[in-house]
Amino acid sequence: MSEVKLDDIVSLAKRRGFIYQGSDVYGGLSGTWDYGPLGVALKRNIMQLWWKMFVEDRDDMYGVDAAILMNQKVWQASGHVDTFTDPLVECSNCHGRFRADKLADSNKCPTCGKEGTFGEAKQFNMMFKTNVGPVDDESSISYLRPETAQGIFTNYKNIVDSFYPDMPFGIAQQGKAFRNEISPRDFVFRSREFEQMEIEYFVREDNWEESFEHWRQQWHAYFAALGLPAESIHELEVPAEDRAHYSKRTMDFEFDYPIGKEELAGLAYRTNFDLSNIERVAKKSMEYIVKGTNDRFVPHVIEPTIGVERAIMAVLSNSYREDEQNGEKRIYLALPEHLAPVKYCVSPLLKNKPELVEKAREVYAALKAKYGAVMWDDNGNIGKRYRRQDEIGTPHCVVIDFQTLEDGTVTVRDRDTTEQRRVGVEELGP
Ligand code: ATP
Repeated sequence: MSEVKLDDIVSLAKRRGFIYQGSDVYGGLSGTWDYGPLGVALKRNIMQLWWKMFVEDRDDMYGVDAAILMNQKVWQASGHVDTFTDPLVECSNCHGRFRADKLADSNKCPTCGKEGTFGEAKQFNMMFKTNVGPVDDESSISYLRPETAQGIFTNYKNIVDSFYPDMPFGIAQQGKAFRNEISPRDFVFRSREFEQMEIEYFVREDNWEESFEHWRQQWHAYFAALGLPAESIHELEVPAEDRAHYSKRTMDFEFDYPIGKEELAGLAYRTNFDLSNIERVAKKSMEYIVKGTNDRFVPHVIEPTIGVERAIMAVLSNSYREDEQNGEKRIYLALPEHLAPVKYCVSPLLKNKPELVEKAREVYAALKAKYGAVMWDDNGNIGKRYRRQDEIGTPHCVVIDFQTLEDGTVTVRDRDTTEQRRVGVEELGP
């Protein structure tokens, strides 16, 4: 278990503009979160890293961005209408409702403390139902997608027809998913609206084990790129009775969160379950034909999946640090530079000296043109600026002082060591 406290992460995230409770001004909406400027930047960096590693840097991967609302047949065929459920129990004393398999004590209500007040667990479907168009009847039912995977399966044929990729190949998607979780909790860890990054990797049935192993290693490479130490990632072979209805093998990758060891990402062998369901319900062939041959088959899939919120929570809790500087407590985020929302902060030593401000603006503009994620900060004294930047994980703070005007050098202060160096502006670089 991580030694960092969840409350510290939540309060830093709010204080510094990473993540706010959704609809906060109206008292909030449970299980929803809004991203502030720094949260958006961190989230995008995490998502872009995934996209670069698994789509841009490979030649066997195709990206899609499918609609969130889909024909209800998708969710009937996939089994979600019947089986995407969690067990729900209700306390007959306080009427609190809980997810039965996540209770610390299955016989004791966590709200009112009474024992023996739960009846039989009922299966609660987690999909958000809605109607599409002005008529509210059975035929207009749709759902907010509970996973992005189905938007990949429904586009498999389009990709094959447009690109005719060699086997094996993958289709990747990032996007929102919605689950009406019975008890959203633990900050963004269990949300009702969240973002997923999923790949369906299409293989011949005979090759599924080899591909499973490939993606197992790819997951570890991604976690390392997020800066997560290998010893805080744990593989869990999910037993048959706990696997999703479509999976023949599932491995969870758990991380040592402040809330304990919990699932960060998954890897599943979904067989040809989904493409066969499309064949059955849509009555369209999902066969892949090997170029120039009569060799045809419905591919099987390996699915690496991760929730962005869980990656953000892992990155934040892994980089949260407290130390002491000059007798004062300091909080900083030791974020890997490529994930940091701001790479450089530029300040004039004194904001009431026009010549310093002018030079600092020049340096700021040059760095911004080069790195984009550069912040200007002339509020308060230098010490306060450093503290602010430490808390948002800015690796370098550049200060323009009188010496800069003479010799063109600036002070660069390192976030982790707090050491300061003098370098020429042109030497600044990641
Ligand atoms: P759990 O057992 O924690 O409910 P799951 O096994 O149902 O998760 P999957 O269906 O495998 O999750 O979803 C894929 C990924 O989506 C998970 O590995 C996780 O990172 C993320 N995820 C799932 N549910 C949520 C949620 N409610 N909030 C945030 N992320 C989630």
